[in-house]
Amino acid sequence: MKKFDVVIVGTGVSGLFTALNLNRDKNIAILTKSTLDETDSFLAQGGICVQADDDDFESFMEDTLRAGHYENNREAVAVMIRQSKEVIGDLIRLGVEFDRDGDSFSYTREAAHSRPRILHCKDRTGSEINGRLLKKVLEMENVTIMEKTTVTDILTDGNRCCGVIVRGPDGNYENFCSHVTVFATGGIGGLFERSTNFSHLTGDALAIAIKHGIKIKDINYIQVHPTSLYTEEQGRAFLISEAVRGEGAVLIDKDGNRFTDELQPRDVVTKKIYEQMEKDKMPYVRLCLKGHVRADIANRFPTIYEYCLKHGYDITSEPIPIVPAQHYFMGGIETDLNGRTSMDSLYAAGETACNGVHGKNRLASNSLLESLVFSKRAAQDINNNWQIREHPNFPEPPQISCEEQILKDKNMIISEIRRGEKDAEQH
Ligand SMILES: Cc1cc2nc3c(=O)[nH]c(=O)nc-3n(C[C@H](O)[C@H](O)[C@H](O)COP(=O)(O)OP(=O)(O)OC[C@H]3O[C@@H](n4cnc5c(N)ncnc54)[C@H](O)[C@@H]3O)c2cc1C
Repeated sequence: MKKFDVVIVGTGVSGLFTALNLNRDKNIAILTKSTLDETDSFLAQGGICVQADDDDFESFMEDTLRAGHYENNREAVAVMIRQSKEVIGDLIRLGVEFDRDGDSFSYTREAAHSRPRILHCKDRTGSEINGRLLKKVLEMENVTIMEKTTVTDILTDGNRCCGVIVRGPDGNYENFCSHVTVFATGGIGGLFERSTNFSHLTGDALAIAIKHGIKIKDINYIQVHPTSLYTEEQGRAFLISEAVRGEGAVLIDKDGNRFTDELQPRDVVTKKIYEQMEKDKMPYVRLCLKGHVRADIANRFPTIYEYCLKHGYDITSEPIPIVPAQHYFMGGIETDLNGRTSMDSLYAAGETACNGVHGKNRLASNSLLESLVFSKRAAQDINNNWQIREHPNFPEPPQISCEEQILKDKNMIISEIRRGEKDAEQH
């Protein structure tokens, strides 16, 4: 058995930003089931929203609510917008270099935003932010990072979380006791056949929450992204960022005609694409940048340009085939505005958490922002309410078959999602 003050599960932006905002006297473990950089945070292309100026509060709020079908928690949205400048300032101090137009930031626009308010580092925003946070966390002497270490369950004493059970790189199970545990385990894309997420992101924290009766919320609110590159290959779907449409790219049918307004919310554009695929009897529609995107395409979208080129498409001169793919999970483990779950000493942050900020459908580029704002608030809540309590003695964990558990958990989450869908239909 190992003992820590705080165990953080996940090395994406929410896990690392929690660690960076905790007091330095804490002995912290950060765990990831994969390698350090295999997080969805590293994949984020488009950017991160910020309240662009004092007049932008109301319109940022309205855009977020409209995209979320007005099912958002307004208080959470207000907190996110008000703290957006502060966390962007934190990132800049940590060394993140956002693209600039001369002396001012270069703001881009994505679907359903009424004005440009998205900061970006070309189309590698996530890797720049997650990479900078990682560099800082690796310098912290009070942090132990463990790769290939999968959390399979939690240790509990009544309604208090006392740590986690992990499967280490050698396949053995071990107890890690902690005074506070933070789930920052990302999305659920690994449960779907076609997703833009890393396949190891299978909603493990959600499965643990369901098993322990920890409150979950909006479990059937799953976002499908309208544009991933169509290929016949298996594996992670490659995202074509919304910023590409924000910069002018158009969607065309099999005859080369535009068939919808590309800057409507994601769920609306996705529906239009499926309808068009059906009409065209094709497994994809096409996205055309040439002649529509004003910026220098290869320079503004280097990651997308290179990836498509490798797969036989030159985005500067020809349309590319695209198809929708599962992308984001708006639901999750229910939290308050400080990341607290319904179980004592257990916090959740980032995509696995749900405080209702996104409502039924996330507005583009609100996820990195939400992850950073609410993980910082969780860390501050932990600092301000620090308490050391004795733990009971936990028996050594049973050595169980990993494959069997993964399948069981997957089925459990899927049936919860279906139950959520049925409930929604009935109301
Ligand atoms: C292709 C793509 C592009 C995107 N573009 C944007 C964008 O431009 N702007 C934006 O705002 N959002 C974007 N998003 C969404 C955004 O990147 C994610 O929602 C956000 O980064 C989630 O961060 P996170 O810290 O919650 O989780 P992640 O960054 O996914 O990290 C999850 C971590 O949890 C670990 N983990 C999971 N389960 C376990 C377990 N059982 N035990 C141990 N460790 C575990 C993983 O190994 C990983 O380290 C994009 C997402 C994708 C997939």
